[in-house]
Amino acid sequence: MSRVYNFSAGPSAFPQAVLQQAQQEMLEWRDSGMSVMEMSHRGKHFSLIAAELESDLRELMAIPDNYKVLFLQGGASAQFSFIPQNILAGKTKACYLNTGAWSEKAIKDAKPYCDVLVSASSEDTKFTTIPDAATWAIDNDAAYLHYTSNETIHGVEFQSTPDAKGLPLVCDMSSNILSRQIDVSQYGIIYAGTQKNMGPAGVTVVIVRDDLIGHAPKSVPSIFNYAEQAKNQSMLNTPATYNWYLVGLVLKWLKAQGGVAAIEQHNIAKAAKLYAAIDASSLYSNPVEIASRSRMNVPFILSDESLDKPFLAAAEAKGLFELKGHRSVGGMRASIYNAMSDAGIDALIDFMAEFERSR
Ligand SMILES: *Cc1c(COP(=O)(O)O)cnc(C)c1O
Repeated sequence: MSRVYNFSAGPSAFPQAVLQQAQQEMLEWRDSGMSVMEMSHRGKHFSLIAAELESDLRELMAIPDNYKVLFLQGGASAQFSFIPQNILAGKTKACYLNTGAWSEKAIKDAKPYCDVLVSASSEDTKFTTIPDAATWAIDNDAAYLHYTSNETIHGVEFQSTPDAKGLPLVCDMSSNILSRQIDVSQYGIIYAGTQKNMGPAGVTVVIVRDDLIGHAPKSVPSIFNYAEQAKNQSMLNTPATYNWYLVGLVLKWLKAQGGVAAIEQHNIAKAAKLYAAIDASSLYSNPVEIASRSRMNVPFILSDESLDKPFLAAAEAKGLFELKGHRSVGGMRASIYNAMSDAGIDALIDFMAEFERSR
């Protein structure tokens, strides 16, 4: 077996210990006599898995009691339209911060349901900055303010929770959830696909404040309705049972690492090391303003584009995979989520230096 260092933006690297545990439990989970994927979602064994999943997430994020935690399907992308469908509550406008490709998608999918007011945009800097909060145009009559806490493609991350000026704050946290400490009580909704920092693809976590649900118009199908899903413990239909289990294992792994506070310190150190190596080189550069650099996704370009292909080929020969940047921005991107080890970061930095020297 030869496992590579996987810098994929998502689905992304798993903690190896979690894969090994899943392997051990593949044929029989505890003393259930069966694999998790064979269990009835309403049975006593799976009920335990589901209950631990929710309580571990509540503990890790210190989620207050007046928030529901849903585990849905359809990815973070489905939430782009479920959010306005569920929480406009009769209002006609919603505010959005546009800081990159994922913000743009959220905006596009909200438009059929409400007037989208783009409160601020960093399109003029090619999404390498976060607009100064003093310039944001926030409308008091809007139903909510939506933002993307980490732009996975552009490598731009909010370093603190924005001030929504009294509006419910809605956040696409897909690519930095559980990577840094946040105060959930400052949010109306937090949502995230699990395939970046929490497990495999196929589950979407939605953390929603009680007062925001129950206002969806009748035209919204039950399966998309947060209140209905909450009433049914996200089991209005058959949930992605095996994926819930895997997310649960990742959460237990994270608790064993010391939780979010500890992993945040680790993430700060990992990112600082990689950015320092990029900044010190004359071959590589990162286009994002320093104050808005992402700890999770580190895009970088080579000063000579013709070296891109040789760089990627040489990286793979060293066991460093998925470093190609998103097709929309080009260059390279190293995604270094919670599961990326120091050894992986060190191997990447060593390789980059060696490649630069060999030019
Ligand atoms: C990956 C990603 C998405 C899309 O997630 P899906 O689960 O594929 O729908 C949305 N937002 C952000 C910030 C992402 O990183």
